[in-house]
Amino acid sequence: SVDRPRPLVAGNWKMNGLKSSAKVLTEIHAGYTPGLKAKVELAVCPPATLLSLFAYASVGSRVAIGGQDCHAKESGAFTGNLSAEMLADAGATYVIVGHSERREYHKERDIDVCAKAVAAHRAGLTAIVCVGETREEREAGKTLAVVRKQLRGSIPVDSNSHNLVVAYEPVWAIGTGLTPTVADVAEVHALIRDELRRLVGKSEAPKVRILYGGSVKPSNAAELMAVDNVNGALVGGASLVAADFLAIAGAY
Ligand code: PGA
Repeated sequence: SVDRPRPLVAGNWKMNGLKSSAKVLTEIHAGYTPGLKAKVELAVCPPATLLSLFAYASVGSRVAIGGQDCHAKESGAFTGNLSAEMLADAGATYVIVGHSERREYHKERDIDVCAKAVAAHRAGLTAIVCVGETREEREAGKTLAVVRKQLRGSIPVDSNSHNLVVAYEPVWAIGTGLTPTVADVAEVHALIRDELRRLVGKSEAPKVRILYGGSVKPSNAAELMAVDNVNGALVGGASLVAADFLAIAGAY
């Protein structure tokens, strides 16, 4: 349809990467050919220590840079935290919020994720809001209910197709090599699109990118990216290898 958004393939480097990893970024720049640029947007979300370096290195390449988390407050006595404004100041245009590792290890609830997305918007960043069920929740048949509740709790009311990306990442698929069936991905992404109509309105909803994440690799990317309402990928492990990241992007 005319509304189909430009796909986004975003690399989530998690707690990986040193200054020497700039060579991976250089390889990504080299492989981001005009043909690939025409088809898909690329973003790399390195650890915060590399944001400035990567943002400067990416001027001219059109590879976007993103943070992996931000604090909900603008500034203050929050030792060790980073505000959305700091990420933007370092050159980020995206920030991942509510990744399952943040939800699990840092006890982030939907209301916290929502506040972080609001902070991201205030700083002019596009929030990549992550949702996804655990293995137990899927086995109990609760996937759709869990994802619906996370969406309603995590997506701020000021969201639109420019400042919001949704990432569906089944927790049991992250870093495990397991992926849902194409039918399961289609079902959840359709639910997300449906919820977006309620949350951001009927005209914006079709333009919001909905990414699939969880063990996306060159070998399964084409199959996953071809699913209805899959508008890109959030890639962890495979995004650390330039050739793999580019091959995933090239699946479009
Ligand atoms: P993975 O991670 O691609 O290594 O499974 C995805 C993610 O956590 O965003």
